[in-house]
Amino acid sequence: MTHRVAIVGAGPSGFYAADGLLRASPDLHIDLIDRLPTPHGLVRAGVAPDHQGTKAVARQFDRLLAQPDVRFAGNLEIGRDLSWDEVRAGYDAVIVATGMVIDRKLGLPGEAEPLVLGSWRFVAWLNGHPDFRQGPDLSKVKRVAVIGNGNVALDVARLLAKNAEEMAKSDIVPAAAEAIVAAPLTDIYVIGRRGPEHASFTGNELAEMGRLARAVSVTDATMLDGHPPASDPTPERLRKAKNLEILKGFAANKPGSKPVTVHFLFNAAPVAFGPGDLELTTGTLPIDLAITCIGYSGEDFPKAEGVFAVGWARRGPSGTIPTNRADSHAVAQQVAAWLKERDPKSGPDPLPICVDADGWHRIDKAETAAGAAQGRPRVKLTEWQALLDVAQGG
Ligand SMILES: Cc1cc2nc3c(=O)[nH]c(=O)nc-3n(C[C@H](O)[C@H](O)[C@H](O)COP(=O)(O)OP(=O)(O)OC[C@H]3O[C@@H](n4cnc5c(N)ncnc54)[C@H](O)[C@@H]3O)c2cc1C
Repeated sequence: MTHRVAIVGAGPSGFYAADGLLRASPDLHIDLIDRLPTPHGLVRAGVAPDHQGTKAVARQFDRLLAQPDVRFAGNLEIGRDLSWDEVRAGYDAVIVATGMVIDRKLGLPGEAEPLVLGSWRFVAWLNGHPDFRQGPDLSKVKRVAVIGNGNVALDVARLLAKNAEEMAKSDIVPAAAEAIVAAPLTDIYVIGRRGPEHASFTGNELAEMGRLARAVSVTDATMLDGHPPASDPTPERLRKAKNLEILKGFAANKPGSKPVTVHFLFNAAPVAFGPGDLELTTGTLPIDLAITCIGYSGEDFPKAEGVFAVGWARRGPSGTIPTNRADSHAVAQQVAAWLKERDPKSGPDPLPICVDADGWHRIDKAETAAGAAQGRPRVKLTEWQALLDVAQGG
């Protein structure tokens, strides 16, 4: 008898947990369960579609699915199709890797769709998540406020600002790309409530905002006098100092010198949304759409014996893909130690019929073939039924 481990959530932290378990204790069966018929979590649905280099980590993850003791179990939502108690009863250990993708709210008056949208809602649409097929109506959108000072805010601003050619090698959903290019966009405001020395942008992503074909990035030079806090550890201070340098370059640019101007506004806290405007502590901005990029919360899961959490579900919604690796490997060691002390449970295979790795490979093949026809990495299937039909060989 071998131990059975259920990993709930087939995003980066779930895959790294499987990898860690295989390294620590090869004699076990792992079921990598996801509510979607497709694996890879936010690598597929969150990471910007024009950052294909980042998405390439998915190939490493797929190699794990070829291991004889690892099964992919897609289209299986725990808490809906199987209860958490059923999962706990069927497996010797459960690893929760469900992430966190509920858009946090600012909690301000007027914060409602269609004017105000959360970043998850927006990027999930661009990335073809089957729960978010309907994007915002951009046909009359000229001015967009992107609220937040992290890399997700830069992703959102950049994806709105790029032209069709710049998006040609991406796997953005074609309808979303068309809607963005057809929008009468003139101004994007990236809004931070504190000074630029506090922004959590990373240098490469910020610098990319200075190399856009149809958009010019600008900021107010008088906002750039601050210094990174002396209390920050060295790499943080260096990152922030580099950001300030890049922003000084933007301050020298001329607003309106390209069709779209991206304004970096700092020390401007949102106060309220009106019909067609955003009140900031520094004044009122006419806008047609606001996208909030201020973080996420997650669903509850049972905290019980034999249940271990990894990734965003454990640490909260911060950290990049590589951050999850060390974290998941450490938890995998704990799980291996826990299993060593226990005899494997007996009983029938707890897994119901679901989309297996072959099903996912059929989806993958169909999407990459559709992409190849257009010179793109893939064209995603975005409908639940289409995904399930293709997974089943239809
Ligand atoms: C918009 C955005 C852009 C990002 N860009 C980058 C980037 O460029 N580079 C980088 O390094 N990091 C980036 N990140 C961060 C990175 O995506 C995360 O660090 C990482 O995805 C977290 O991994 P995870 O496995 O914990 O969660 P997730 O990736 O969210 O995976 C969770 C998985 O669990 C599944 N699930 C949830 N609930 C259930 C359930 N009840 N039953 C079954 N399955 C379930 C979900 O479908 C999902 O597949 C970005 C994040 C966001 C939001």
